[in-house]
Amino acid sequence: MKIKQGNYRNPGTGAVEYAREFVEGKSMLESLPTITSLMKGELHDVGNKRIKRCDYCGYHYNDQTRPNNSKTCSKECKIARDTLNRKMKQADKALLNPKKTKKQEYYLDWLEYPFWINEYEMLKHTWKHEPSYGLSKVEQIAAAKQRTERIGGRRKPKYCTPMDKRGEKAHRVRVKFAKSDRNPSEVKTYRMDPDEITSYLVSKYGEKHLQSARRKAIEHRRS
Ligand SMILES: [Zn+2]
Repeated sequence: MKIKQGNYRNPGTGAVEYAREFVEGKSMLESLPTITSLMKGELHDVGNKRIKRCDYCGYHYNDQTRPNNSKTCSKECKIARDTLNRKMKQADKALLNPKKTKKQEYYLDWLEYPFWINEYEMLKHTWKHEPSYGLSKVEQIAAAKQRTERIGGRRKPKYCTPMDKRGEKAHRVRVKFAKSDRNPSEVKTYRMDPDEITSYLVSKYGEKHLQSARRKAIEHRRS
């Protein structure tokens, strides 16, 4: 089964190899638009019958097989596709003719007095929920019972939550410092004026991203 147009999985090695030809030597940002149009199938010659879309991962790749008859970009994609197809076939089969359990087969439970029609299957089935506990298990149960009686039955333990000055639940925080003979170094502080901050953010995130983030922040403050 082919993957739908516009859907993608992790690209296989063949697809990665093909995309590499277009973005070799480019930075991440530069290669993004290239990859987008590559995924749309705009970059390759449509007449080239060797450029195909992988059936499994959904990316374009260059078919290197001599008869030009591969459907997937790489070996992993082929294996994954075959596994998926097999699993889907199995699931369909299980849905259409589900396997009956032994109980469904030999126990007529829809009758007013249900009974087994095969004694062997009955014995095999019934022992499972009717065996007695082992001796040590019985002792454990008795001991647990005694313990419960001694502490006055099953009771929920009482916790009292410590409150702080504001009347809210106080959370105890324990901080453990590692012992060290080093002295802390001098604390340096930097001050940036708004223009500096803006130019730094623009250089890091770009004008467009920064504007949209600021707009979102303002909308968030209003709501
Ligand atoms: Zn693939």
